[in-house]
Amino acid sequence: MTPARPRLETHALAEQNVPRYTSYPTAPHFTKDVGPDTYAAWLEERLGAPPVDAPLSLYLHVPFCRELCLYCGCHTKAIRQQAPLDAYAESLAAEAALVGERLGPRPISHLHWGGGTPSILNGRNLARIVADLDAAFDLTAMREHAIELDPRHLDPALVRVLAGLGVNRASLGVQDFSPSVQEAIGRIQSYEQVARAAAMLREAGIASLNFDLMYGLPRQSVDDVRRSAEQAARLAPQRIALFGYAHVPWFRAQQRLIDTATLAGPAERLRQAGAAREVLLAAGYRAIGFDHFAMPGDDLARAVQAGALRRNFQGYTSDGAEILIGLGASAIGRLPQGFVQNAPDVGGYQRAIAQGRLATVRGVAFTLDDRVRGRIIEALMCDFTVDPQAIAAQFGVNDSFAAERAALAPLAEQGLVSVAGGRVAVTEAGRPFVRLAAAAFDAYLDQGGKRHSVAV
Ligand code: SF4
Repeated sequence: MTPARPRLETHALAEQNVPRYTSYPTAPHFTKDVGPDTYAAWLEERLGAPPVDAPLSLYLHVPFCRELCLYCGCHTKAIRQQAPLDAYAESLAAEAALVGERLGPRPISHLHWGGGTPSILNGRNLARIVADLDAAFDLTAMREHAIELDPRHLDPALVRVLAGLGVNRASLGVQDFSPSVQEAIGRIQSYEQVARAAAMLREAGIASLNFDLMYGLPRQSVDDVRRSAEQAARLAPQRIALFGYAHVPWFRAQQRLIDTATLAGPAERLRQAGAAREVLLAAGYRAIGFDHFAMPGDDLARAVQAGALRRNFQGYTSDGAEILIGLGASAIGRLPQGFVQNAPDVGGYQRAIAQGRLATVRGVAFTLDDRVRGRIIEALMCDFTVDPQAIAAQFGVNDSFAAERAALAPLAEQGLVSVAGGRVAVTEAGRPFVRLAAAAFDAYLDQGGKRHSVAV
């Protein structure tokens, strides 16, 4: 018996750099070939599928925070003054009108505020933007109105405004409750602060809560992760997302301040993720995909049961809308024709909108191959099993994916994937490695020397 060799190889697999597959093709492969004119034409085409009255989703990106956390991988910057925030709110409202003019008053099913810290705009601006969205689109059938919140910057007046605007889901950044880890990531927030925020939201009727937890943070141990998961579960949010810290200092400058000597290696990261998973499953949560957990009655858990789980830029979702409109600097949208991304710099974004132009700077028009592979990858990420040939056939394509199956061999040898009768299935042990299985179907991988975060 030589158990050491497979373990080492598994850890080597965990260290491989692969995308998170919140889209396919992934954002690094968007190009300048898609600009504002293409986006306008796509919006105006209103292609046959999906039907023009099918509900769509809106994502609003607010790239500002009061201060920057060292571990942050989001597109955001620190800001103190109110005037630029008011101006940004103005731009969001104007962009909604620009898109609405081209698309018509389509019904919206899901509205998601992300960032950054969207509530930094203040209650008055949030209300103004929702009123403008209401004028540009049809919000009467909205099923979910969600916002990402910072528990350190929440007060009863803001919570009342959010509830009044119809917000019914809130996501709180928690990461880890250990003071030593919090010091290392430059974000101090006590358990009591998070508990108070959760109570405030629930009292106002915003009952669906999500907590974001992390593993792989500087100075973090398995015990820290386990304790934080226990404390989070005690507050009983409907959902918990468990993200591995992605150390990408070439992409996020403030991460250079993190001492790499305090970061866990792949074996330890696997143990940390496993410990959190164990705690959350024991607390009654269901595992959703590879990094989310939900209470049995939650929409995500129901979507898994119904085989309707989807994956988009916010991660796993029960939102089945085929059109996602992204508003704000760096926001990404998805249309039946392809992906579009707004100017990432706030100045460039605001200049375009002020001139009455859409702010698209990059994107990708789907090829037939993109559609087939995108569906295969999404099925793997959501369901952990896929029949690639059958999916290709749904698109009228005949492909046995022989090269992709061969690329899965190292994972199969480790017992992380099984390939039988045309079906690819990720095993229970392989779930943390699902991004690697998905990568076997990624025709763009390694093109252009793009760098990604580690697989686990
Ligand atoms: S982690 Fe959240 S609060 Fe911290 S800088 Fe990033 S977006 Fe802002």
